[in-house]
Amino acid sequence: MTLIPELTILQPDDKEHIDLPRTLEDELAVGKKRLYIESYGCQMNFADSEIVAAVMRNAGYATTSSADEADVIFLNTCAIRDNAEQKVRHRLKHLTGLKRQKPELLVGMLGCMAERLKTKLLEEEKVVDIVAGPDAYRDIPKLVEEAESGQKAVNVFLSREETYADISPIRLNSNGVTAFVSIMRGCDNMCSFCVVPFTRGRERSRDPFSIVREAQDLFDQGYREVTLLGQNVDSYKWEGVVLGARTGPPGGEERGEEDASATPHRRAAPSSLLTPNTNITTFAHLLEMVAQIHPDLRVRFSTSHPKDITDDVLHTMARYDNICNYIHLPAQSGNSRVLKLMNRTYDRPWYIGKIDRIREILGEDCGISTDMISGFCTETEDEHQDSLSLMDYVHYDYAYMFAYSERPGTLAAKKYADDIPEDVKKRRLNEIIARQLTHSAARNQRHIGQVQRVLIEGTSKRSDDFLCGRNDQNKMVVFPKGNHQKGQYVNVLVTECTSATLRGEVVNA
Ligand code: SAM
Ligand code: SF4
Repeated sequence: MTLIPELTILQPDDKEHIDLPRTLEDELAVGKKRLYIESYGCQMNFADSEIVAAVMRNAGYATTSSADEADVIFLNTCAIRDNAEQKVRHRLKHLTGLKRQKPELLVGMLGCMAERLKTKLLEEEKVVDIVAGPDAYRDIPKLVEEAESGQKAVNVFLSREETYADISPIRLNSNGVTAFVSIMRGCDNMCSFCVVPFTRGRERSRDPFSIVREAQDLFDQGYREVTLLGQNVDSYKWEGVVLGARTGPPGGEERGEEDASATPHRRAAPSSLLTPNTNITTFAHLLEMVAQIHPDLRVRFSTSHPKDITDDVLHTMARYDNICNYIHLPAQSGNSRVLKLMNRTYDRPWYIGKIDRIREILGEDCGISTDMISGFCTETEDEHQDSLSLMDYVHYDYAYMFAYSERPGTLAAKKYADDIPEDVKKRRLNEIIARQLTHSAARNQRHIGQVQRVLIEGTSKRSDDFLCGRNDQNKMVVFPKGNHQKGQYVNVLVTECTSATLRGEVVNA
Protein backbone atom coordinates (compact mmCIF):
# COMPACT_ATOMS: atom_id res chain seq x y z
CA MET A 1 0.00 0.00 0.00
CA THR A 2 1.23 3.52 -0.80
CA LEU A 3 1.86 5.54 2.31
CA ILE A 4 -0.02 8.82 2.39
CA PRO A 5 1.60 11.26 4.82
CA GLU A 6 -1.30 13.30 6.16
CA LEU A 7 -4.36 12.90 4.05
CA THR A 8 -7.33 14.79 5.37
CA ILE A 9 -10.81 13.85 4.35
CA LEU A 10 -12.69 17.06 3.96
CA GLN A 11 -14.75 18.98 1.52
CA PRO A 12 -12.75 20.55 -1.29
CA ASP A 13 -13.55 24.06 -0.12
CA ASP A 14 -13.18 23.44 3.55
CA LYS A 15 -11.02 26.13 5.07
CA GLU A 16 -10.05 24.17 8.14
CA HIS A 17 -6.80 22.25 8.26
CA ILE A 18 -5.79 23.24 4.76
CA ASP A 19 -2.20 24.31 4.80
CA LEU A 20 -2.56 26.47 1.71
CA PRO A 21 -1.52 30.02 2.34
CA ARG A 22 -4.42 32.44 2.33
CA THR A 23 -3.76 35.86 1.02
CA LEU A 24 -5.34 39.24 1.16
CA GLU A 25 -7.58 40.83 -1.40
CA ASP A 26 -6.28 43.84 -3.23
CA GLU A 27 -7.64 47.18 -2.09
CA LEU A 28 -7.72 50.56 -3.71
CA ALA A 29 -4.52 52.05 -2.41
CA VAL A 30 -3.16 55.05 -4.16
CA GLY A 31 -0.08 56.29 -2.30
CA LYS A 32 -0.48 53.82 0.57
CA LYS A 33 2.04 51.28 1.75
CA ARG A 34 1.11 47.70 0.93
CA LEU A 35 0.64 44.76 3.26
CA TYR A 36 0.63 41.12 2.18
CA ILE A 37 -0.36 38.35 4.63
CA GLU A 38 -0.11 34.60 4.26
CA SER A 39 -1.87 32.49 6.88
CA TYR A 40 -0.99 28.91 7.72
CA GLY A 41 -2.79 26.34 9.85
CA CYS A 42 -6.16 26.52 11.54
CA GLN A 43 -9.27 28.67 11.21
CA MET A 44 -8.21 30.66 14.28
CA ASN A 45 -5.13 31.83 12.43
CA PHE A 46 -7.19 32.80 9.44
CA ALA A 47 -9.50 34.81 11.72
CA ASP A 48 -6.46 36.41 13.37
CA SER A 49 -5.10 37.55 10.01
CA GLU A 50 -8.37 39.43 9.54
CA ILE A 51 -7.70 41.24 12.85
CA VAL A 52 -4.14 42.04 11.77
CA ALA A 53 -5.41 43.41 8.45
CA ALA A 54 -7.80 45.68 10.38
CA VAL A 55 -5.03 46.91 12.70
CA MET A 56 -2.77 47.62 9.74
CA ARG A 57 -5.51 49.37 7.79
CA ASN A 58 -5.94 51.71 10.75
CA ALA A 59 -2.23 52.40 10.55
CA GLY A 60 -2.64 53.48 6.92
CA TYR A 61 -1.74 50.31 5.06
CA ALA A 62 -3.64 48.83 2.13
CA THR A 63 -3.60 45.11 1.43
CA THR A 64 -2.32 43.38 -1.66
CA SER A 65 -2.60 39.83 -2.94
CA SER A 66 0.87 39.97 -4.46
CA ALA A 67 3.99 39.50 -2.33
CA ASP A 68 6.01 41.19 -5.07
CA GLU A 69 4.09 44.45 -4.57
CA ALA A 70 4.29 44.49 -0.78
CA ASP A 71 6.21 46.82 1.53
CA VAL A 72 5.47 44.53 4.47
CA ILE A 73 4.97 40.76 4.34
CA PHE A 74 3.53 38.84 7.30
CA LEU A 75 3.48 35.08 7.62
CA ASN A 76 0.85 34.07 10.18
CA THR A 77 2.28 30.74 11.24
CA CYS A 78 1.29 27.41 12.77
CA ALA A 79 3.39 25.30 15.14
CA ILE A 80 1.07 22.36 15.69
CA ARG A 81 3.23 19.84 13.82
CA ASP A 82 6.80 19.96 12.63
CA ASN A 83 5.83 19.91 8.95
CA ALA A 84 3.75 23.09 9.44
CA GLU A 85 6.90 24.85 10.63
CA GLN A 86 9.03 23.40 7.85
CA LYS A 87 6.61 24.79 5.29
CA VAL A 88 7.09 28.29 6.71
CA ARG A 89 10.88 27.93 6.81
CA HIS A 90 10.78 26.97 3.17
CA ARG A 91 8.69 30.04 2.38
CA LEU A 92 11.19 32.25 4.20
CA LYS A 93 13.88 31.07 1.79
CA HIS A 94 11.83 32.43 -1.08
CA LEU A 95 11.29 35.71 0.77
CA THR A 96 15.05 36.00 1.27
CA GLY A 97 15.37 36.20 -2.53
CA LEU A 98 12.64 38.82 -2.68
CA LYS A 99 14.33 40.93 -0.01
CA ARG A 100 17.61 40.79 -1.85
CA GLN A 101 15.91 42.54 -4.78
CA LYS A 102 14.07 44.96 -2.48
CA PRO A 103 16.11 45.58 0.70
CA GLU A 104 13.52 47.93 2.27
CA LEU A 105 10.96 45.10 2.35
CA LEU A 106 9.96 44.12 5.92
CA VAL A 107 9.18 40.51 6.82
CA GLY A 108 7.18 39.68 9.95
CA MET A 109 6.46 36.34 11.57
CA LEU A 110 3.15 36.20 13.44
CA GLY A 111 1.24 33.48 15.26
CA CYS A 112 2.18 30.24 16.95
CA MET A 113 5.61 29.61 15.44
CA ALA A 114 6.59 33.19 16.30
CA GLU A 115 5.41 32.67 19.87
CA ARG A 116 7.16 29.30 20.20
CA LEU A 117 10.54 30.40 18.89
CA LYS A 118 10.54 34.05 19.95
CA THR A 119 13.88 35.79 19.40
CA LYS A 120 15.44 32.51 18.27
CA LEU A 121 13.61 33.08 15.01
CA LEU A 122 15.58 36.27 14.46
CA GLU A 123 18.83 34.39 15.03
CA GLU A 124 17.88 31.48 12.78
CA GLU A 125 16.14 33.38 9.98
CA LYS A 126 18.03 36.53 9.04
CA VAL A 127 15.28 37.65 6.66
CA VAL A 128 12.86 38.17 9.57
CA ASP A 129 12.51 41.73 10.92
CA ILE A 130 9.43 41.42 13.15
CA VAL A 131 8.24 38.68 15.51
CA ALA A 132 4.74 39.07 16.99
CA GLY A 133 2.87 36.49 19.06
CA PRO A 134 -0.93 35.98 18.89
CA ASP A 135 -1.66 38.49 21.66
CA ALA A 136 0.57 41.26 20.29
CA TYR A 137 -1.36 42.25 17.18
CA ARG A 138 -2.42 45.67 18.45
CA ASP A 139 1.27 46.47 18.77
CA ILE A 140 2.11 45.59 15.18
CA PRO A 141 2.16 49.15 13.74
CA LYS A 142 4.69 50.08 16.44
CA LEU A 143 6.77 47.01 15.65
CA VAL A 144 6.71 47.94 11.96
CA GLU A 145 7.92 51.45 12.81
CA GLU A 146 10.75 50.01 14.88
CA ALA A 147 11.74 47.72 12.04
CA GLU A 148 11.62 50.61 9.58
CA SER A 149 14.23 52.34 11.70
CA GLY A 150 16.51 49.35 11.19
CA GLN A 151 15.97 47.49 14.48
CA LYS A 152 14.60 44.00 14.86
CA ALA A 153 11.20 44.22 16.61
CA VAL A 154 9.69 41.58 18.91
CA ASN A 155 6.54 41.30 21.04
CA VAL A 156 5.64 37.82 22.24
CA PHE A 157 3.87 38.86 25.42
CA LEU A 158 0.92 36.57 26.16
CA SER A 159 -2.07 38.29 27.69
CA ARG A 160 -4.73 37.01 30.07
CA GLU A 161 -7.30 39.48 28.75
CA GLU A 162 -6.77 40.23 25.08
CA THR A 163 -9.69 39.11 22.89
CA TYR A 164 -9.59 41.86 20.22
CA ALA A 165 -13.32 42.23 20.96
CA ASP A 166 -13.45 45.82 19.73
CA ILE A 167 -11.65 45.26 16.44
CA SER A 168 -13.82 44.67 13.38
CA PRO A 169 -11.96 42.14 11.27
CA ILE A 170 -11.40 42.83 7.59
CA ARG A 171 -12.81 39.80 5.78
CA LEU A 172 -10.11 38.33 3.57
CA ASN A 173 -10.69 36.25 0.45
CA SER A 174 -14.31 36.18 1.54
CA ASN A 175 -17.11 34.51 -0.40
CA GLY A 176 -19.45 37.07 1.19
CA VAL A 177 -21.64 34.28 2.58
CA THR A 178 -19.73 32.50 5.35
CA ALA A 179 -17.44 34.00 8.00
CA PHE A 180 -15.54 33.01 11.12
CA VAL A 181 -16.16 34.79 14.41
CA SER A 182 -13.64 34.28 17.16
CA ILE A 183 -15.35 33.85 20.56
CA MET A 184 -12.39 33.03 22.77
CA ARG A 185 -8.62 32.73 22.73
CA GLY A 186 -6.02 30.44 24.24
CA CYS A 187 -6.51 27.08 25.90
CA ASP A 188 -6.35 25.91 29.51
CA ASN A 189 -6.27 22.21 28.66
CA MET A 190 -2.89 20.63 28.70
CA CYS A 191 -3.19 17.82 26.19
CA SER A 192 0.27 16.35 26.44
CA PHE A 193 0.94 16.35 22.68
CA CYS A 194 -0.18 19.92 22.05
CA VAL A 195 1.80 23.14 21.76
CA VAL A 196 -1.25 25.44 21.69
CA PRO A 197 -1.39 26.28 25.43
CA PHE A 198 2.24 27.46 25.12
CA THR A 199 1.74 29.48 21.96
CA ARG A 200 -1.70 30.96 22.56
CA GLY A 201 -1.69 31.34 26.30
CA ARG A 202 -4.47 31.11 28.87
CA GLU A 203 -8.07 30.68 27.87
CA ARG A 204 -10.22 33.82 27.86
CA SER A 205 -13.70 34.45 26.51
CA ARG A 206 -14.83 37.43 24.53
CA ASP A 207 -17.69 39.74 25.56
CA PRO A 208 -20.88 38.04 24.21
CA PHE A 209 -22.37 41.30 23.01
CA SER A 210 -19.38 42.11 20.86
CA ILE A 211 -19.79 38.62 19.35
CA VAL A 212 -23.50 39.12 18.67
CA ARG A 213 -22.79 42.57 17.24
CA GLU A 214 -20.19 41.15 14.87
CA ALA A 215 -22.54 38.36 13.77
CA GLN A 216 -25.41 40.85 13.32
CA ASP A 217 -23.18 43.13 11.23
CA LEU A 218 -22.19 40.18 9.07
CA PHE A 219 -25.85 39.28 8.57
CA ASP A 220 -26.65 42.90 7.66
CA GLN A 221 -23.86 42.80 5.07
CA GLY A 222 -25.41 39.71 3.45
CA TYR A 223 -23.47 36.93 5.17
CA ARG A 224 -25.66 33.93 5.95
CA GLU A 225 -23.40 31.69 8.04
CA VAL A 226 -21.09 32.30 10.98
CA THR A 227 -18.75 29.78 12.56
CA LEU A 228 -18.01 30.54 16.21
CA LEU A 229 -14.37 29.71 16.80
CA GLY A 230 -12.35 28.69 19.83
CA GLN A 231 -9.95 25.91 20.81
CA ASN A 232 -12.58 24.63 23.21
CA VAL A 233 -15.86 26.46 22.63
CA ASP A 234 -17.75 24.50 25.29
CA SER A 235 -15.75 26.12 28.05
CA TYR A 236 -16.79 29.59 26.84
CA LYS A 237 -17.75 31.58 29.91
CA TRP A 238 -18.39 35.31 30.31
CA GLU A 239 -18.85 36.75 33.76
CA GLY A 240 -18.71 40.42 32.88
CA VAL A 241 -21.42 43.01 33.20
CA VAL A 242 -24.08 42.37 30.62
CA LEU A 243 -24.87 45.67 28.97
CA GLY A 244 -28.14 46.10 27.16
CA ALA A 245 -29.91 43.18 28.76
CA ARG A 246 -33.59 43.77 29.39
CA THR A 247 -34.08 40.37 30.89
CA GLY A 248 -31.34 38.27 32.26
CA PRO A 249 -28.20 38.60 34.21
CA PRO A 250 -27.55 41.37 36.70
CA GLY A 251 -25.97 44.27 34.95
CA GLY A 252 -28.86 44.80 32.56
CA GLU A 253 -30.27 47.37 34.97
CA GLU A 254 -27.18 49.50 34.44
CA ARG A 255 -28.69 50.96 31.32
CA GLY A 256 -31.69 52.16 33.30
CA GLU A 257 -34.74 53.11 31.26
CA GLU A 258 -32.97 52.88 27.95
CA ASP A 259 -34.81 50.57 25.57
CA ALA A 260 -32.46 47.78 24.54
CA SER A 261 -34.50 47.26 21.38
CA ALA A 262 -33.19 50.62 20.20
CA THR A 263 -29.76 49.01 19.89
CA PRO A 264 -30.60 45.84 18.02
CA HIS A 265 -27.06 44.49 18.19
CA ARG A 266 -27.25 44.25 21.93
CA ARG A 267 -29.37 41.34 22.98
CA ALA A 268 -30.13 39.87 26.33
CA ALA A 269 -29.04 36.33 26.99
CA PRO A 270 -32.25 34.28 26.74
CA SER A 271 -33.70 34.18 30.23
CA SER A 272 -34.60 30.50 29.87
CA LEU A 273 -30.92 29.71 29.79
CA LEU A 274 -29.41 32.01 32.35
CA THR A 275 -27.60 30.44 35.24
CA PRO A 276 -29.79 31.36 38.24
CA ASN A 277 -28.58 34.32 40.30
CA THR A 278 -25.43 34.78 38.33
CA ASN A 279 -24.40 36.84 35.37
CA ILE A 280 -22.58 34.00 33.68
CA THR A 281 -23.06 33.56 29.94
CA THR A 282 -22.22 29.99 28.93
CA PHE A 283 -21.62 28.64 25.45
CA ALA A 284 -25.23 27.40 25.31
CA HIS A 285 -26.44 30.95 26.07
CA LEU A 286 -24.12 32.42 23.46
CA LEU A 287 -25.25 29.95 20.81
CA GLU A 288 -28.85 30.90 21.46
CA MET A 289 -28.08 34.62 21.36
CA VAL A 290 -26.40 34.28 17.96
CA ALA A 291 -29.11 31.94 16.65
CA GLN A 292 -31.74 34.54 17.55
CA ILE A 293 -30.20 37.16 15.25
CA HIS A 294 -32.19 35.79 12.32
CA PRO A 295 -33.53 32.38 11.28
CA ASP A 296 -31.66 32.77 7.98
CA LEU A 297 -28.30 33.13 9.71
CA ARG A 298 -26.79 29.69 10.09
CA VAL A 299 -24.61 29.12 13.13
CA ARG A 300 -21.75 26.62 13.32
CA PHE A 301 -19.04 26.22 15.93
CA SER A 302 -15.69 24.56 16.39
CA THR A 303 -14.03 22.92 18.33
CA SER A 304 -15.92 20.99 21.02
CA HIS A 305 -14.04 19.13 23.71
CA PRO A 306 -15.63 15.82 24.80
CA LYS A 307 -15.08 16.62 28.48
CA ASP A 308 -16.95 19.94 28.23
CA ILE A 309 -19.81 19.63 25.75
CA THR A 310 -23.05 19.77 27.75
CA ASP A 311 -26.62 18.61 27.27
CA ASP A 312 -27.56 22.31 27.37
CA VAL A 313 -25.56 22.85 24.18
CA LEU A 314 -27.16 19.80 22.54
CA HIS A 315 -30.68 20.88 23.54
CA THR A 316 -30.02 24.41 22.27
CA MET A 317 -28.90 22.92 18.95
CA ALA A 318 -32.10 20.86 18.85
CA ARG A 319 -34.27 23.93 19.53
CA TYR A 320 -32.94 26.09 16.69
CA ASP A 321 -33.17 25.02 13.05
CA ASN A 322 -30.47 27.54 12.15
CA ILE A 323 -27.87 26.00 14.49
CA CYS A 324 -26.29 23.43 12.21
CA ASN A 325 -26.65 19.78 13.09
CA TYR A 326 -22.93 19.12 13.11
CA ILE A 327 -20.36 18.70 15.88
CA HIS A 328 -16.59 18.44 15.61
CA LEU A 329 -15.73 16.29 18.64
CA PRO A 330 -12.08 15.24 18.44
CA ALA A 331 -11.39 11.85 20.05
CA GLN A 332 -7.60 11.72 19.28
CA SER A 333 -7.52 8.02 20.27
CA GLY A 334 -9.99 5.21 21.00
CA ASN A 335 -7.94 3.71 23.80
CA SER A 336 -8.34 4.79 27.43
CA ARG A 337 -4.67 4.27 28.39
CA VAL A 338 -3.47 6.38 25.45
CA LEU A 339 -6.09 9.05 26.23
CA LYS A 340 -4.73 9.20 29.76
CA LEU A 341 -1.18 9.65 28.47
CA MET A 342 -2.51 12.34 26.16
CA ASN A 343 -4.06 14.02 29.21
CA ARG A 344 -7.39 14.34 27.42
CA THR A 345 -9.21 13.92 30.78
CA TYR A 346 -11.82 11.51 29.40
CA ASP A 347 -11.68 7.83 28.59
CA ARG A 348 -13.24 5.68 25.88
CA PRO A 349 -16.52 4.97 27.74
CA TRP A 350 -16.95 8.72 28.49
CA TYR A 351 -16.42 9.59 24.84
CA ILE A 352 -18.87 6.91 23.72
CA GLY A 353 -21.36 8.25 26.29
CA LYS A 354 -21.12 11.71 24.66
CA ILE A 355 -21.68 10.23 21.20
CA ASP A 356 -24.75 8.34 22.49
CA ARG A 357 -26.08 11.55 24.01
CA ILE A 358 -25.62 13.42 20.70
CA ARG A 359 -27.52 10.67 18.90
CA GLU A 360 -30.30 10.66 21.52
CA ILE A 361 -30.82 14.42 21.47
CA LEU A 362 -29.95 15.32 17.88
CA GLY A 363 -30.62 12.07 16.06
CA GLU A 364 -28.70 9.79 13.71
CA ASP A 365 -28.44 12.52 11.09
CA CYS A 366 -26.28 14.81 13.22
CA GLY A 367 -22.92 15.13 11.48
CA ILE A 368 -19.97 14.23 13.71
CA SER A 369 -16.30 14.63 12.89
CA THR A 370 -13.11 13.92 14.79
CA ASP A 371 -9.36 14.46 14.96
CA MET A 372 -7.27 11.30 15.27
CA ILE A 373 -3.57 10.93 16.06
CA SER A 374 -1.71 7.78 15.07
CA GLY A 375 1.42 6.49 16.80
CA PHE A 376 1.32 8.52 19.99
CA CYS A 377 4.08 7.56 22.47
CA THR A 378 3.95 3.86 23.47
CA GLU A 379 0.74 3.15 21.50
CA THR A 380 0.52 -0.62 20.89
CA GLU A 381 -1.06 -2.35 17.91
CA ASP A 382 -4.05 -3.33 20.06
CA GLU A 383 -4.47 0.27 21.20
CA HIS A 384 -4.33 1.40 17.58
CA GLN A 385 -7.08 -1.17 16.86
CA ASP A 386 -9.14 0.56 19.58
CA SER A 387 -8.98 3.79 17.57
CA LEU A 388 -10.28 1.91 14.53
CA SER A 389 -13.05 0.26 16.56
CA LEU A 390 -14.09 3.61 18.01
CA MET A 391 -14.37 4.91 14.45
CA ASP A 392 -16.52 1.88 13.61
CA TYR A 393 -18.74 2.68 16.59
CA VAL A 394 -19.24 6.35 15.75
CA HIS A 395 -19.21 6.28 11.93
CA TYR A 396 -17.77 9.79 11.65
CA ASP A 397 -18.80 11.94 8.73
CA TYR A 398 -15.29 13.40 8.47
CA ALA A 399 -11.96 13.10 10.20
CA TYR A 400 -8.75 15.09 10.34
CA MET A 401 -6.01 12.56 10.79
CA PHE A 402 -2.41 13.04 11.78
CA ALA A 403 0.73 11.08 12.59
CA TYR A 404 2.04 12.12 16.00
CA SER A 405 4.68 14.83 15.73
CA GLU A 406 6.63 15.54 18.89
CA ARG A 407 6.61 19.23 19.79
CA PRO A 408 9.40 20.64 21.93
CA GLY A 409 8.31 21.84 25.36
CA THR A 410 5.05 19.87 25.49
CA LEU A 411 4.28 17.50 28.36
CA ALA A 412 4.65 14.48 26.08
CA ALA A 413 8.05 15.65 24.85
CA LYS A 414 9.20 15.98 28.46
CA LYS A 415 7.69 12.79 29.84
CA TYR A 416 7.45 10.15 27.11
CA ALA A 417 9.72 8.79 24.42
CA ASP A 418 8.52 9.37 20.87
CA ASP A 419 9.07 5.65 20.38
CA ILE A 420 6.80 4.62 17.53
CA PRO A 421 8.87 4.38 14.35
CA GLU A 422 7.81 6.75 11.57
CA ASP A 423 6.88 3.92 9.21
CA VAL A 424 4.59 2.41 11.86
CA LYS A 425 2.94 5.78 12.55
CA LYS A 426 2.37 6.20 8.82
CA ARG A 427 1.00 2.70 8.36
CA ARG A 428 -1.41 3.18 11.26
CA LEU A 429 -2.39 6.55 9.87
CA ASN A 430 -3.15 4.97 6.52
CA GLU A 431 -5.35 2.39 8.22
CA ILE A 432 -7.23 5.17 9.99
CA ILE A 433 -7.62 7.06 6.71
CA ALA A 434 -8.85 3.99 4.86
CA ARG A 435 -11.42 3.28 7.58
CA GLN A 436 -12.61 6.89 7.50
CA LEU A 437 -13.03 6.83 3.74
CA THR A 438 -15.47 3.93 4.02
CA HIS A 439 -17.36 5.65 6.84
CA SER A 440 -17.54 9.00 5.01
CA ALA A 441 -18.86 7.25 1.91
CA ALA A 442 -21.46 5.32 3.95
CA ARG A 443 -22.58 8.44 5.82
CA ASN A 444 -22.91 10.33 2.54
CA GLN A 445 -24.89 7.47 0.98
CA ARG A 446 -27.54 8.01 3.66
CA HIS A 447 -28.38 11.34 2.03
CA ILE A 448 -29.20 9.85 -1.37
CA GLY A 449 -32.90 10.36 -2.00
CA GLN A 450 -33.13 13.02 0.73
CA VAL A 451 -33.85 16.71 0.16
CA GLN A 452 -31.16 18.84 1.81
CA ARG A 453 -31.29 22.56 2.58
CA VAL A 454 -28.16 24.07 1.09
CA LEU A 455 -26.67 27.55 1.53
CA ILE A 456 -25.07 28.47 -1.79
CA GLU A 457 -21.44 29.56 -1.37
CA GLY A 458 -20.47 30.01 -5.01
CA THR A 459 -19.60 28.33 -8.26
CA SER A 460 -18.31 24.78 -8.22
CA LYS A 461 -14.54 24.61 -8.73
CA ARG A 462 -14.96 22.00 -11.45
CA SER A 463 -17.50 23.80 -13.64
CA ASP A 464 -19.10 27.23 -13.95
CA ASP A 465 -22.37 25.50 -14.80
CA PHE A 466 -22.65 24.17 -11.25
CA LEU A 467 -23.06 25.83 -7.87
CA CYS A 468 -21.95 24.49 -4.53
CA GLY A 469 -22.84 25.00 -0.90
CA ARG A 470 -23.10 23.09 2.34
CA ASN A 471 -25.93 21.24 3.96
CA ASP A 472 -26.65 21.30 7.67
CA GLN A 473 -24.02 18.65 8.36
CA ASN A 474 -21.32 20.71 6.66
CA LYS A 475 -21.20 18.49 3.55
CA MET A 476 -20.47 20.11 0.23
CA VAL A 477 -23.35 19.72 -2.21
CA VAL A 478 -22.94 20.38 -5.95
CA PHE A 479 -25.88 21.00 -8.29
CA PRO A 480 -26.71 22.63 -11.67
CA LYS A 481 -26.67 26.40 -11.55
CA GLY A 482 -30.13 27.28 -12.90
CA ASN A 483 -31.08 30.81 -11.84
CA HIS A 484 -29.80 30.47 -8.32
CA GLN A 485 -27.41 32.86 -6.60
CA LYS A 486 -24.69 32.82 -4.01
CA GLY A 487 -26.13 33.48 -0.53
CA GLN A 488 -29.54 31.86 -1.26
CA TYR A 489 -30.89 28.75 0.42
CA VAL A 490 -32.12 26.02 -1.92
CA ASN A 491 -33.54 22.55 -1.40
CA VAL A 492 -31.50 19.96 -3.22
CA LEU A 493 -32.57 16.38 -3.89
CA VAL A 494 -29.39 14.34 -3.48
CA THR A 495 -28.97 11.81 -6.28
CA GLU A 496 -25.34 10.67 -5.96
CA CYS A 497 -22.25 11.09 -3.79
CA THR A 498 -18.56 10.45 -3.34
CA SER A 499 -16.83 10.20 0.05
CA ALA A 500 -16.34 13.99 -0.06
CA THR A 501 -19.26 15.49 -1.98
CA LEU A 502 -23.01 15.15 -2.50
CA ARG A 503 -24.55 15.84 -5.91
CA GLY A 504 -28.13 16.55 -6.83
CA GLU A 505 -30.63 18.99 -8.25
CA VAL A 506 -32.67 21.83 -6.85
CA VAL A 507 -36.25 20.81 -6.20
CA ASN A 508 -37.42 24.19 -4.93
CA ALA A 509 -35.68 27.34 -3.85
N1 SAM B 1 -8.58 22.34 20.42
C1 SAM B 1 -8.83 21.30 19.53
C2 SAM B 1 -9.16 20.03 20.30
O1 SAM B 1 -8.88 19.88 21.44
O2 SAM B 1 -9.66 19.15 19.66
C3 SAM B 1 -7.69 20.99 18.62
C4 SAM B 1 -6.81 22.00 18.18
S1 SAM B 1 -5.36 21.44 17.37
C5 SAM B 1 -4.98 22.94 16.61
C6 SAM B 1 -5.95 20.48 16.01
C7 SAM B 1 -5.54 19.05 16.04
O3 SAM B 1 -4.18 18.91 15.75
C8 SAM B 1 -5.69 18.30 17.36
O4 SAM B 1 -7.01 17.93 17.61
C9 SAM B 1 -4.81 17.10 17.15
O5 SAM B 1 -5.49 16.03 16.52
C10 SAM B 1 -3.76 17.63 16.19
N2 SAM B 1 -2.47 17.77 16.88
C11 SAM B 1 -2.16 18.63 17.85
N3 SAM B 1 -0.89 18.43 18.26
C12 SAM B 1 -0.40 17.42 17.51
C13 SAM B 1 0.86 16.75 17.46
N4 SAM B 1 1.84 17.07 18.28
N5 SAM B 1 1.01 15.76 16.55
C14 SAM B 1 0.00 15.43 15.71
N6 SAM B 1 -1.19 16.02 15.73
C15 SAM B 1 -1.40 17.01 16.62
FE1 SF4 C 1 -4.42 21.56 22.21
FE2 SF4 C 1 -5.90 20.06 23.83
FE3 SF4 C 1 -6.11 22.72 23.90
FE4 SF4 C 1 -7.05 21.36 21.80
S1 SF4 C 1 -7.79 21.21 23.91
S2 SF4 C 1 -5.82 23.22 21.75
S3 SF4 C 1 -5.58 19.73 21.62
S4 SF4 C 1 -4.33 21.53 24.48
